[in-house]
Amino acid sequence: MPYYLRAIDSCGLILSYRCQCACRHCLYAAGPAWSEWMAPDFLDELLRGIKRVWKRPRGLHLAGGEPFLNFELLLLGVSRCRELGLPIEYVETNGGWAVDEARARERLVLLREAGLERLLISLSPFHAETIPLQVTLRAIALAREVFGEENIIVYLPHLEPIMAQLGKERPVCLSKYLQRFGPRETGRILFEGYGLIPGGRAGLLLGALLEGRPLSRFAGQNCLREIIFSRHAHFDPYGNYIPLFCGGLSLGRFRDLYRFVKELDVQTLPLARILVEEGPYGLAQMAMVDYGFEPAPEGYVGKCHLCVDVRRHLVARGADFQELAPKAFYEHLFDRPPLRP
Ligand code: SF4
Ligand code: SF4
Repeated sequence: MPYYLRAIDSCGLILSYRCQCACRHCLYAAGPAWSEWMAPDFLDELLRGIKRVWKRPRGLHLAGGEPFLNFELLLLGVSRCRELGLPIEYVETNGGWAVDEARARERLVLLREAGLERLLISLSPFHAETIPLQVTLRAIALAREVFGEENIIVYLPHLEPIMAQLGKERPVCLSKYLQRFGPRETGRILFEGYGLIPGGRAGLLLGALLEGRPLSRFAGQNCLREIIFSRHAHFDPYGNYIPLFCGGLSLGRFRDLYRFVKELDVQTLPLARILVEEGPYGLAQMAMVDYGFEPAPEGYVGKCHLCVDVRRHLVARGADFQELAPKAFYEHLFDRPPLRP
């Protein structure tokens, strides 16, 4: 039986994996080590493709990496969306640009004039390892001034008082949370408090804060909903179709999105097929038999944690599956060290 993708009704554009942060929870393993940006002609082609594929538009977000690091490209993306009549849900940013107040305000006004209506600003202990809380708060205040309070989504405001206890002026290493709150409470703040998805770097670098579950506990948890039915995807600068939030898992590279989605049968992709039918438990079984994978003795804090661990093992063993893309995702998973209690 072929597996055809449900048409997206929302999506995110990864304009680049480049970011000043390299957060330990990043689903896309973004950071300063990446350098490439989406080519403007591909951006244009992609937006036209999205418009053709999209049956019931809900919203598109422009993101990274950190999209403000290439402000001209971000501005171009906003303008093209407006010209094509594509609804932008928000631009997602870490707010690290709010160092010089006048320049920051000027950029926000340019975005508003280009047609942007809403901004999502990340506020979390992960981001504060690089960006001082006071810079994030300045970004939020300026954005509210330019776009109106109701048009600024802060993700997540309830963490501010906890973060403020550890200082606003300088970046704060997550190890300070361990010292202040202890491992159990730190695990609660970071996982429950943030609603963390343990994909990307998160499971590998933060999983030690929670109790891991053995491989057998993931049997029967497939990814049919996430890969086929979610109607949400991310598109990266290299033309990878990334289902939902599954960083490092590509359903293929495309130029013509409409044709790609119409013709793609996920059944023909060996890793994605296993994930759809059996989830990462099935992937681990295959990797144990064919590639010598050994599950982590401390277990896994979620199925995406297991999935990334198996996939990085496959890459390290030189397994040649097109779904394991972009390859650099796997090189940058450990750009920060794991946090250990
Ligand atoms: S989570 Fe956001 S701010 Fe942090 S590294 Fe990833 S893209 Fe950058
Ligand atoms: S387990 Fe893997 S394929 Fe499934 S949702 Fe998580 S990252 Fe995606």
